[in-house]
Amino acid sequence: MAGNVLFDGLTRGFQSDRLFARLPDGRHYSYQDVLDVSARFANVLVERGVQPGDRVAVQAPKSIEALMLYLGAVRAGAVFLPLNNAYTPAEIDYFLSDAEPAVFVCDPAHHERMAPLAASRGIRLETLGVWRSEAESAGTLADAGLAAPTTFETKPRAPGDIAALLYTSGTTGRSKGAMLTHDNLLSNSRTLQQHWRFTANDVLLHALPIFHTHGLFVATNVTLLAGGALNFLHSFDIDCVLGALPTSTAMMGVPTFYTRLLDEPRFTRELVAHMRLFVSGSAPLLAETHARFEARTGHRILERYGMTETSMNASNPYDGERRPGSVGFPLPGVSIRIADPQTGEVLAPGAVGVIEVAGPNVFAGYWRNPEKTAEEFRPDGYFITGDVGVVDGDGYLSIVGRAKDLIISGGFNVYPKEVEAAIDDIEGVAESAVVGVPHPDFGEAVVAVVVPKAGAAVTPQAVMAGISGRLARFKQPKHVVIRPALPRNAMGKVTKKDLRDEFADHFIGRPAGSDRARA
Ligand code: AMP
Repeated sequence: MAGNVLFDGLTRGFQSDRLFARLPDGRHYSYQDVLDVSARFANVLVERGVQPGDRVAVQAPKSIEALMLYLGAVRAGAVFLPLNNAYTPAEIDYFLSDAEPAVFVCDPAHHERMAPLAASRGIRLETLGVWRSEAESAGTLADAGLAAPTTFETKPRAPGDIAALLYTSGTTGRSKGAMLTHDNLLSNSRTLQQHWRFTANDVLLHALPIFHTHGLFVATNVTLLAGGALNFLHSFDIDCVLGALPTSTAMMGVPTFYTRLLDEPRFTRELVAHMRLFVSGSAPLLAETHARFEARTGHRILERYGMTETSMNASNPYDGERRPGSVGFPLPGVSIRIADPQTGEVLAPGAVGVIEVAGPNVFAGYWRNPEKTAEEFRPDGYFITGDVGVVDGDGYLSIVGRAKDLIISGGFNVYPKEVEAAIDDIEGVAESAVVGVPHPDFGEAVVAVVVPKAGAAVTPQAVMAGISGRLARFKQPKHVVIRPALPRNAMGKVTKKDLRDEFADHFIGRPAGSDRARA
């Protein structure tokens, strides 16, 4: 009988006596434990009525058991649906109504507030928390798992069957469920494992959340495929990270991980001299962070580019030049082109346009949303990412921003990234975020939120003086605000929507001409 594409692919080279994960509580998980515990969860899910193709929604605290639940769901032929821990009950209600899972697994601490939501939709509710000791329950699913057999006849699943439903972060509009197939996930993991040279000797420092493609698929699947091990942390706790680095060979992180390490005096060249690889993604890594990291450690961070819908698309080279500010080249098997956002015409190197992607990594469409799916694919099968980028003469791709973040002020296009880059070059500026907000004369006006470096005094006037000779008038902010930090989500992405909301009324109802007051 046909196998289960993703599970069989990931586990083909398993050596059951080898270490899979070192856990924060001191426990060690072997590859045999991976097989046993995923079988236990698969048995429990089937026993709860989960059929192949059913969704299993999970909003649980990060734990190795939650990761095993992902594999258990795949083994049961189900569609794994991880949910951001920050989602409120109202948001969860939307996901439950949209995805109609057979089972919803929540944090034991949230059982009371989630119970009415699950009950009203006839969804079976289970809980899964963090394991503390043999004597303590880690939730109903953990308890049931302990009583379940460690063998399970993994359900067959074909390459095109859906393995996971990942909702987009929804920075613009309602989040949509991206259907990822067995082949999407397996092929991308294989490509990354080879491209980044992961082997059974690797120990990956895993401090990312596991509700997102980065920590769930990239970090985990690559390690499983290679037969390597994880230093599995529950979060990016600086003391735990410093403690885990000496026994790690590689780390995958979002840019904020790297800036936090650089802010830490105990993070030294000696501590990471033995490391093989640092990967960054999910949000732009400032060229300045890249440079500071190299100066401090001698390592050049390898930046890559991906998204929920496509897994990973592009990566800087392992051996060649890792270029700061660029996400490198298309991964093997992935095609990337730059197109005119309006007409879809493919543009020549050097032109700025929307990034389009095709390849075995590209998802099967949005869950129960054929209209949205049709809108975001070109007739020849390329997916329109919504990211704006440019490919230089050497073939390196750089991301300039999101198409939806494009500001049209007085009829002119303003790419926030260009304004941010100019502001970031000003003495004393650490970083900035530029957004467009409604303006009675210009349609939209540019607003800049600027974060000074520690100890630096930056004023709005100094920002304006710093960019005035550099940027055309229409690109210059009409309002500059100094802040200690930018708003960010769990993946380190600046939540521009929050800034747009905050300044939405700033220019509305103001007398014409008063917008030069840049306090
Ligand atoms: P998500 O679907 O939450 O993984 O978000 C995907 C989006 O994150 C992409 O469409 C990009 O806008 C952004 N992104 C991911 N990696 C990078 C990167 N290396 N540099 C800049 N933006 C990135």
